[in-house]
Amino acid sequence: MRNKPLFKFDNSYARLPERFHASVYPEAVRGPTLIKFNGPLAKNLGLDLDEDDTARLAAIFSGNVLPPGAEPLAMAYAGHQFGNFQPQLGDGRAILLGEVVDAAGIRRDIQLKGAGPTPFSRRGDGRAALGPVLREYIVSEAMAALGIPATRALAAVITGEPVYRETTLPGAVFTRVAASHVRVGTFQFFAAREDIDGLRTLSDYVIDRHYADLKTAEKPYLALLERVAERQAELVARWLGIGFIHGVVNTDNVTVSGETIDFGPCAFLDEYDPMKVFSSIDAQGRYAYRNQPGIAQWNIARLAECLLPLIDADQDAAVDQANGVLKRFGERFQAAWIAVFRRKIGLNSEEPGDADLVQGLLAAMHEGRADFTLTFRRLADLASAQAAGDGKADEQARLQAEAAFVEGFMPWEKAEAWLPLWRERLAREPSAAGAAALMRSVNPAIIPRNHRIEEAISAALDGDLGPFNRLLDAVQAPYEDRPEFAAYAESPRDEQRVLRTFCGT
Ligand code: AMP
Ligand code: MG
Repeated sequence: MRNKPLFKFDNSYARLPERFHASVYPEAVRGPTLIKFNGPLAKNLGLDLDEDDTARLAAIFSGNVLPPGAEPLAMAYAGHQFGNFQPQLGDGRAILLGEVVDAAGIRRDIQLKGAGPTPFSRRGDGRAALGPVLREYIVSEAMAALGIPATRALAAVITGEPVYRETTLPGAVFTRVAASHVRVGTFQFFAAREDIDGLRTLSDYVIDRHYADLKTAEKPYLALLERVAERQAELVARWLGIGFIHGVVNTDNVTVSGETIDFGPCAFLDEYDPMKVFSSIDAQGRYAYRNQPGIAQWNIARLAECLLPLIDADQDAAVDQANGVLKRFGERFQAAWIAVFRRKIGLNSEEPGDADLVQGLLAAMHEGRADFTLTFRRLADLASAQAAGDGKADEQARLQAEAAFVEGFMPWEKAEAWLPLWRERLAREPSAAGAAALMRSVNPAIIPRNHRIEEAISAALDGDLGPFNRLLDAVQAPYEDRPEFAAYAESPRDEQRVLRTFCGT
C-alpha cells in the first residue's frame, strides 16, 4: 500500500528561475521539542499529521526531518530598511519548505523561520530565539481571529540549542504559513539589477498566484500596482482600527498579497497616542502609529518605481500612470479608514460629518489618555445598554455603561462632551440594536496586549508555557465577552506597562 503524502506539495516558487532563490536545507538541531501545533490550520492545509505524535511534529517543524516533496529554498529579495536601500537581503533565517493548496483552493507557503543559515544570512546565524517565536505565534493567531489579513502560525518548536543575542536564549523554530512571501523588496531585488526579464517573470507569477483576474487586463502590470496599493491601503486602515503598530514596515516586510508579515517589534496601543512608537530601533518614529499610512504609500511608490519599465515603454507615460495610482492610494486609504472607524462608533449609514465625529473622539482619547481598545469596547457596551430599551432597570444599566466609558478618560469632561454628539448621530441610524451589534463585532474586547505577551515570554523562558497557552486561548475569540478571560481585556497597571519592544533577530 502506498503511503499518503504528509504534505501535498506543489512548489511553484521553486520552479522559477535559479536567480529567484537559493536551495538550502534546514540544519538539524539537538533536542527539538514541540511547543505548539495548530491542528485546525494543518487540517485546512490538508496536512496528514498525527497531532498526538509530538516527537514526529517536533522533528518536522524543527527542520530535522524533511517531509517528502519539500524543496527547501531561501528567497532572494532586497529592500529599503528605515529608508536605506539594501540591494541584497533575502531569507537569512527562513527556509521555504514548499507550497500546498488549502481547503479554499488558495496556495499557501509553508516556511520554517529560524532553521539555520542560508546563503542570504550575511552576518546572522539563521536562528530565532524563543521570545520572538512566541510573539509571532500569538500575534499571527490574534490577527486571524480579529479578521485582519496576516500570515499564520502552524507550529513552534524549541531547538534544545542556545542562540546568542545580548544574552544567551533558548533557540526556537517558527513555522509560518503565508499566501506567499513575495514582498515589495522582491521586486526591488530585480529592479536593482536592471533585470527586466526577472521583473516580468515575478510580476506574472504574482498576478497568476494572487490576482488572476488581472491576466486579461489591458495593462496588467499597472493593474497589479493598483491592486497591491489597494490591499495595502485597506490593510493599514485595519491596523489603525485595532491600534496595531507593526514597528518595521520596511519594504522587505510588505507583502504583495496584502497580508501582514513579520511581527518582530510589533505592539498594540494601550492608551491612545497617535505618535506612539514601541520599537527600540525606531528612534525617529518613522513607523509610529499615525505614520503607517504615509509609509505604506511610500512603500508602494518604491514598488511603482520597480514596475515602471513594464507599465509603459514610454517612461513619462509610465510615470504618469504610476503617479495616478499613488494619488489614489491616499483616497483609498481615507475611504478605508473612515469605513473602519464609522463601524467602530456604530454607524452603518454615511454622513459628511462622520469623520469629524470620529476625530473628535480620538482627540478626546488622546487628551484623556484613554485606552484605545477599552474605549471602543465600552462604547459598544453603552450602545447595547441604550438599545436595550427605557425601562427603569435598563436606565440603571445605561448609566453604568456610560460611567464605565467616561471613567476611561482622565479628565472625564472630554468624554462627557463627546457623548451627546454621538448620541445625536446614532439616533439617525435605522436601528439602535443593529448599531450595538455592529460595534460589538468590530471593537474587540481582547487584543494581545504587550504586557501579556511579555508575561507569556518571560514565563516560557522560565520553562512555564502556561501563560502562553492561556493568552493564545484568550485571543481566539476577541469579540466575545468570556468571563474566564476578563483579565486579558484590562489595560496594564503602571508597573506592567511595556515601554519598548525589540526585533529579537
Ligand atoms: P527582519 O528585520 O526580520 O525583517 O529581517 C531583515 C533581514 O535580516 C532579512 O533579510 C532577514 O532574513 C535577516 N535576518 C534577520 N535575523 C537574522 C538572523 N538571525 N540570521 C540571519 N539573517 C537574519
Ligand atoms: Mg523581514
